[in-house]
Amino acid sequence: MKDAEWNYEVFWKEAIKQIRDEVSEQEFLMWFRNMEYLSSSDSQIAVAVPSTFYKDQVSQRFQQRIEDKLFELSGHRIAMSFQIQQKEPPKGPAPSQAADKSRPVPAPKKAKRPHAQLNPEYNFERFVRGENNDFAYMAAFAIARNPGKAYNPCMIYGGVGLGKTHLLQAIGNSTNQEFDDIRIAYVTAETFTNEFILSIKENTSHRFKNKYRSVDMLLIDDVHFLSGKVETQEELFHTFNALYDANRQMVFTSDRPVSELKKLSDRLRSRFERGLNVDLQPPNYETRIAILKKKIEEKQVSLPEEVIELICQNIKTNVRDLEKALTKLIAYAELVNRTITLEIAERQLKDFFADHDQKNVSIDLVQRVVAEYFGLSPNDLRGKKRSKAIAFPRQVAMYIARDLTEFSTTEVGLEFGGRDHTTVMHACQRVEDRLKTDATLGPAIQHLTRSVKEYRS
Ligand code: ADP
Ligand code: MG
Repeated sequence: MKDAEWNYEVFWKEAIKQIRDEVSEQEFLMWFRNMEYLSSSDSQIAVAVPSTFYKDQVSQRFQQRIEDKLFELSGHRIAMSFQIQQKEPPKGPAPSQAADKSRPVPAPKKAKRPHAQLNPEYNFERFVRGENNDFAYMAAFAIARNPGKAYNPCMIYGGVGLGKTHLLQAIGNSTNQEFDDIRIAYVTAETFTNEFILSIKENTSHRFKNKYRSVDMLLIDDVHFLSGKVETQEELFHTFNALYDANRQMVFTSDRPVSELKKLSDRLRSRFERGLNVDLQPPNYETRIAILKKKIEEKQVSLPEEVIELICQNIKTNVRDLEKALTKLIAYAELVNRTITLEIAERQLKDFFADHDQKNVSIDLVQRVVAEYFGLSPNDLRGKKRSKAIAFPRQVAMYIARDLTEFSTTEVGLEFGGRDHTTVMHACQRVEDRLKTDATLGPAIQHLTRSVKEYRS
């Protein structure tokens, strides 16, 4: 595995932390404070110690114990090797002042390396508050200040492009800056699933378990993806319990409230419902203006007030689309080397607005319209039956849903009775193939598309 190095450092820290609880304060300060993790290879961890005397003492007193712990945690025999590195006189507080054992330890303020899995741009400073998101923002902020204590677990839910990922990563970024030695894992539910499946295939599931059960903060994005993934849910359930019992912070996001998540085991659902559940609503007009102005400031460009208003009047439900509109205008301005006027903006964004408008179609609406057209019920389309009379209309509905909405194949599959995304891809392909040979299908789809749009308005 490529990330072995990262893994070992995590295990090292966990081992040291556990030993800290087992030895006296005095002993810990004496022998562990001056030992530093350097690197790891296949079966070794290199640590720096300040002298030969120190090395001999540590290896006599603790080496076996540390290596046993490493084995316990990682399932691998990892040996310690020592490097003597003379240090400058110690900085920071004297041992007597550094005796606070409570975790996590607030670090002296210094710019830390960004977290490898987090985008540093997703921070609290860049997140614009409004009444639609204020509660979620405050909860997220409180969690970052007091991980494991304030709201654990926390579920942030809301529609596409409303800032779930941004807030989740802001928690991670802020916590990473505020606390030293805090191990944070950010992962999408999809990656979690894939890693889990791979770990089974490669017989490394103990590693997988250790990786996620030995963190201080677990952030999982888009848990609606877990729908129908029975084994992964089971694994997450146990991870949840381990972390919860140890007061480790967990934050999840989902595109809908927990009660509406489909194909989710009862016991995982009840875990998600614990703690705090907060939602993100679409921003109102004033907040959209504030967000757009913030993005303009960040990109160091300028736009006339009336253009800003135009964008915010036309894009109402998705912050990501606000950004896209802005990016589009900036690109145009750079290309033709002109400042943007209201006329230019109107012309340039006309299609984009129309598109955005269409994207507000729900899958549910598509199902209703298509079902009615074929004389079926929406439940037939979502159900299990595979008879031709149902399978084909279902494929058409999936095709139209993909065409008219911005939901991914995964999300569309979920809405069609929890089908796999490959089924949706296959359906779209089938419809496209048939469009080439069946002259009546094109007009039928056009008719259905028009109906969906009409229903919506
Ligand atoms: P989601 O995960 O809910 O689909 P994201 O977190 O990816 O949405 O947000 C989409 C984009 O919109 C991101 O670039 C994010 O920075 C931006 N965004 C969303 N809400 C806000 C906000 N309140 N303030 C600033 N930017 C926001
Ligand atoms: Mg997201």
